Amino acid sequence: MNLSIVVPLLNEEESLPELCDWIRRVCTTQHYTYEIILVDDGSTDDSWQVIEGLSREDEHIKGIKFQRNYGKSAALNKAAKGDVIITMDADLQDSPDEIPELFYMIVEEGYDMVSGWKKIRYDNTLTKNLPSKLFNAVTRKVSKIHLHDFNCGLKAYRKKVVKSIEVYGEMHRYIPVLAKWAGFRKIGEKVVEHRKRKYGVTKFGWDRFINGFLDLLSIFFVG
Ligand code: UDP
Ligand code: MG
Repeated sequence: MNLSIVVPLLNEEESLPELCDWIRRVCTTQHYTYEIILVDDGSTDDSWQVIEGLSREDEHIKGIKFQRNYGKSAALNKAAKGDVIITMDADLQDSPDEIPELFYMIVEEGYDMVSGWKKIRYDNTLTKNLPSKLFNAVTRKVSKIHLHDFNCGLKAYRKKVVKSIEVYGEMHRYIPVLAKWAGFRKIGEKVVEHRKRKYGVTKFGWDRFINGFLDLLSIFFVG
């Protein structure tokens, strides 16, 4: 299988049909063999019913349900079969039109992982942007990985990278760092379109950054 698209989601019932349609259009045009894995991270709305309906209608779509909220990182540890694995948020803020270029960078240009860079953002609030800027600056300095935007949910991986690292909680922001620690050297970035949230509300604030940092420290010191 060429490609697995892994989508973590928490209460995103309205976005899912549109997102899956769009991904399907892109993958069909590109003639990929693919799967879409929708990972329900403890939703309390009807997301899971929507996922069940979508997967009944289309064999490319698979659903995984967590019994509680584990944080969006846990989705990546799930069984993805594709040679390339792309993670993407469920809320239509990431564009599936980025998929072909990300896929190309892994398969043809030899990147181990490519991280999206939301150069122009649509959630330009102080509570969102300030922690993000601070986080990126510190992570760049400490890790010596020169990415602009570690936080972006849109990322592409060679399969062996995903199989070599384990992430949980808020650690998705540190995946490039973990990939480097695991010996993968060719880490790149691609400017990606950031879209306005169409439905629902954001699930992230300051507390999530702090939790993520604590998770990383625990790996570093405890192993
Ligand atoms: N998400 C998740 N578990 C969580 C929090 C968020 O699976 O505990 C999902 C969420 O549904 C979305 C993605 O992660 O698909 C990014 O979250 P959100 O859009 O709220 O973050 P923002 O874009 O505001 O940073
Ligand atoms: Mg979002």
